[in-house]
Amino acid sequence: MRAYGLFIGGEWVGASAGRTFRSTNPYTGEPWATLREATAEDVDTAVAAARTAQKDWQATSGAHRAEALHAIASAVLSHADELAVFETTDNGKIIRETRSQMRFFARLCRYYAGYADKLYGSVIPLDQPTVFDFTVREPYGVVGLITAWNSPISLLGNKLPAALAAGNCAVVKPSEHASVSTLELCKIFQEAGLPAGVVNVVTGGPEVGAAMVAHPDVAKISFTGSPGVGRKIAAAAGKYLKPVTLELGGKSPNIVFADADPEAATVGALAGIFGATGQTCVAGSRLLVQRPVYDDIVGRLAKRAEAIKLGDPLDPASEMGTAANQPQFDRIMASIERAKSDGARLVTGGARATGDGLDKGLFIQPTIFSDVANTMHVAQEEIFGPVLAVLPFDEEDEAVAIANDIPFGLAAGVWTKDVSRAMRMIPKLKTGVVWVNTYRAVAAQAPFGGVKDSGFGRERGEQGLLEFSTVKNVMIDYSSEIRDPFAIKN
Ligand code: NAD
Repeated sequence: MRAYGLFIGGEWVGASAGRTFRSTNPYTGEPWATLREATAEDVDTAVAAARTAQKDWQATSGAHRAEALHAIASAVLSHADELAVFETTDNGKIIRETRSQMRFFARLCRYYAGYADKLYGSVIPLDQPTVFDFTVREPYGVVGLITAWNSPISLLGNKLPAALAAGNCAVVKPSEHASVSTLELCKIFQEAGLPAGVVNVVTGGPEVGAAMVAHPDVAKISFTGSPGVGRKIAAAAGKYLKPVTLELGGKSPNIVFADADPEAATVGALAGIFGATGQTCVAGSRLLVQRPVYDDIVGRLAKRAEAIKLGDPLDPASEMGTAANQPQFDRIMASIERAKSDGARLVTGGARATGDGLDKGLFIQPTIFSDVANTMHVAQEEIFGPVLAVLPFDEEDEAVAIANDIPFGLAAGVWTKDVSRAMRMIPKLKTGVVWVNTYRAVAAQAPFGGVKDSGFGRERGEQGLLEFSTVKNVMIDYSSEIRDPFAIKN
């Protein structure tokens, strides 16, 4: 068993109430780490440490903050394989993916390091010739970063480097189901020489996150998680009039037109739903296929799905890992049973995966339901697992109508060789991301986020940086004119 403290003010400390909880390896079913359950008092201590550190962090030059981010990137890269093993052991995501997620965290540190000394304001010409107007961007101060269990380091990479580049200090709360990698990252911060208190990590469940949202010295919350919790956070933030960024769930349509390359579309659909065991916010969990190629695409997909190699997530040959934790496994299995009873046609999968090396792990067969109606639970609810709903359509407008007929609006995929069709589709899809002839592709430079129940605010790219600063406008009147005090000066 590994044991971790809370990371506050650059030191490992216990939790004030002395309570602990365990993290379980979803592949072996064995608990493997003991973690501290923070209290509101611990959150208060972490916020105070961040607040103290933030004064110097903001005052230091952007070039210095950039150096710190580059040092973190280098340290992450030199420990990427170890960090990936921690992540995979904690949440069952295959090592192929967690390794690339560690490298992407480093990439994001370098990307935002490039911005740290380039946070420009603007000079704004006004109507009055003797008033000089300019803006500056200022950090919020202490920001609270709350993440989900499916990709803790990757999700933190979308928030922390941007927050630090902009001059904020952070209190981070990873999910209670997968906290180890975030705590291991603190050792990297120490190795990289990050000043104490710039990043603090508190572990525990919803009440720890709620204490962060309620804390008067946490000036902004950036949250990644479910729409249900997102609503609670938005409501609490409303009470305290605190800005929030919400990266929530999705039920994304992946739309295949008859003119698409069938092999590329099949692989894209496969990556969209079985990559990361479907436990990704952008899962292309609704596949809309134009009727002339419907049977062909479903047949190709079933063949591919049945060949997916399930196995030890630490084995580089494995293509699909486990459900990340028992409650999630139970939710996925319940959704599969619901789809069956709702009358969706089970094409393949539909059960727990067992057999050689799989029996102790939370494995689920890659599952495809076809002939799904868009009103069914399997088409409307985010399952967050390896379960695909396939729906037929005839015309372009019908595809758009089905795609948009859902509360979520995170991502959409369009597979077509017809550029005009792709260009017609892009503005009609009510989502924050559209992929054309690709799926589940990311870039440090490209902003990411949702609309509708998938949240608001953006991460990555320049937009992701701007989420972590506010604009101050400054007017300097250099005329010697004495104004009329009772009229607005314009
Ligand atoms: P969750 O909402 O249950 O928990 C997320 C985090 O919020 C955890 O750290 C949890 O402890 C904390 N939390 C719970 N209640 C809270 C409260 N009242 N106040 C403050 N914090 C609280 O989500 P999950 O089950 O960990 O993750 C799965 C969800 O995350 C899915 O819906 C998935 O789509 C979403 N997700 C979204 C993105 C994205 O970028 N859009 C990425 C990954 C995951």
